[in-house]
Amino acid sequence: MLKQLSAWWAGAALPATTLAAPPLPLNKTASEWKALVSPMAYQVLFQHGTERAGTSPLNAEKRAGTYVCAACSLPLFSSAHKFDSGTGWPSFFQPLPDAVGTSTDHKLFIPRTEYHCARCGGHQGHVFDDGPKPTGKRYCNNGVALAFIPEGLPLPALRT
Ligand SMILES: [Zn+2]
Repeated sequence: MLKQLSAWWAGAALPATTLAAPPLPLNKTASEWKALVSPMAYQVLFQHGTERAGTSPLNAEKRAGTYVCAACSLPLFSSAHKFDSGTGWPSFFQPLPDAVGTSTDHKLFIPRTEYHCARCGGHQGHVFDDGPKPTGKRYCNNGVALAFIPEGLPLPALRT
């Protein structure tokens, strides 16, 4: 009887265990990432830094292509969704499907929505509700956290 009960209990607990699967498939230590990306990219991606406005060459990037995570190379944005926000940071009105996750950032007095690469957890930027149609969203991205791959060139292999 006791055996049956514990088997039932184990079965009942299963769905919750499944739901709690880790959301970040690529998990490296801080020192591993430090060795792989530039110091500025490390500060933004893994210490939630913000690059100075107007400093990224990707602000002026107008070619068709794909923007991938500077840490793990996951494709995050398409040039088709980029717009000139005038803020000094590369801006998009939507990410690629399932490419980013969000969390609430309480660093400033007014909480903001932070977003990060869904694969490695690297911080990319903040999302605001003052973007253009059709989404009305503005994904304000640190250029140093992205790499641009022009259309026609192969996307880099995902970092493992
Ligand atoms: Zn990533």
